[in-house]
Amino acid sequence: MRRKHPWIFSGAIANIEGSPGSGETVNVISCDGIVLAVGAYSPHSQISVRIWSFEPDEIIDVNFFRDKINKAFQSRRLIYSDREISACRLIYAESDSLPGLIVDKFGDYLVCQFLSAGPELWKASIVDALKEIVPSCKGIYERSDTPARGKEKLPEKTGILAGEVPDGMIQIDDGNYKFNINMREGHKTGFYLDQRHNREITGRFLDGLEVLDCFSYSGGFTIAALKAGARKVTMIDSSAEAIALAKQNIELNGLSLSSVETIEDNVFTTLRKFRDSRRSFDAIILDPPKFAESEKDLNRAGRAYKDINLLGIKLLRPGGLLSTFSCSHYMDMELFKKTVAFAAMDAGRTVRIIHQLHQAPDHPIALNFPEGEYLKGLLCRVE
Ligand code: SAH
Repeated sequence: MRRKHPWIFSGAIANIEGSPGSGETVNVISCDGIVLAVGAYSPHSQISVRIWSFEPDEIIDVNFFRDKINKAFQSRRLIYSDREISACRLIYAESDSLPGLIVDKFGDYLVCQFLSAGPELWKASIVDALKEIVPSCKGIYERSDTPARGKEKLPEKTGILAGEVPDGMIQIDDGNYKFNINMREGHKTGFYLDQRHNREITGRFLDGLEVLDCFSYSGGFTIAALKAGARKVTMIDSSAEAIALAKQNIELNGLSLSSVETIEDNVFTTLRKFRDSRRSFDAIILDPPKFAESEKDLNRAGRAYKDINLLGIKLLRPGGLLSTFSCSHYMDMELFKKTVAFAAMDAGRTVRIIHQLHQAPDHPIALNFPEGEYLKGLLCRVE
């Protein structure tokens, strides 16, 4: 608490006065009787309290949320142009001092995730504040369909919270590329905003190359590659809907599908098939889903990361480019580098990092909350 970490685990609580309900505001009091913070109580989670404020007198009401949301929005204005801010993460939970609340802005629409008891209780106030602070907003949609809610004994929920939200696709422009996204059914809130800069940086090196985009989802890296002049791109994703959406998005950006090959299959098995058939590429992108949900998954996850990186490195022609990511918080940058280093060693190749990549700046990392860091990547030249 004194280091301003916003979580209190159940084991750290000596006693609870009264019987606070789910999400209710409680004072956190030290054993010597000093109020350290005010937070939201979660009766069912191992994280019993998430701190709203370290000011002992802070009143948690609609004004509090208005202020915090406003600050988060203003901070995005400082990092993004008007065009870029059209699609951005407006609120990144603990990192924006709003534990458990995620809000992504997709053009005129907002998509929210209420991940814990606090924001769940304050949902109506949060929605009111969002409407006020983002006046162009035509609709707010809830995507609280995430397993994280289970730990709070909150049911998964989706639906319109304000205004109107289109049934099908909407078009967004992230400042570099255009995407069709489905807020109601797409992954998470509909789109991975966190890779915005990494797509662009990776793209810079792909002119004229034959590229393999593994875990391609809605085509973010493929579009960056084609825009940058890649000669051919092969996309692999196990989801047919993702491949169909990626194809739509390629055309939406005025790019031709004639230089795109799509493979609807498992990346692990496809890379092995490529190895066995001696296929090779000039550049490979590896952007897998989260392999480690918790620390105890790290061994298994580490093996999976090493496996795809080893296969990827082997498939690269000499001088090829590897753009490899991990979005597991528990796999930190040092461990990720080691994992890729072991893969390089096993492949018998010399690998040099030319860029270290991170989540986009609209996903800030509060230094008092290192858990907010999750996406890391290495752009490597493979000899
Ligand atoms: N690179 C994407 C985001 C990837 S999200 C972007 O820039 O937007 C992860 C993707 O991996 C999802 O589309 C999911 O369908 C796919 N996926 C998950 N496991 C897979 C597997 N074993 N083989 C192939 N695709 C997989």
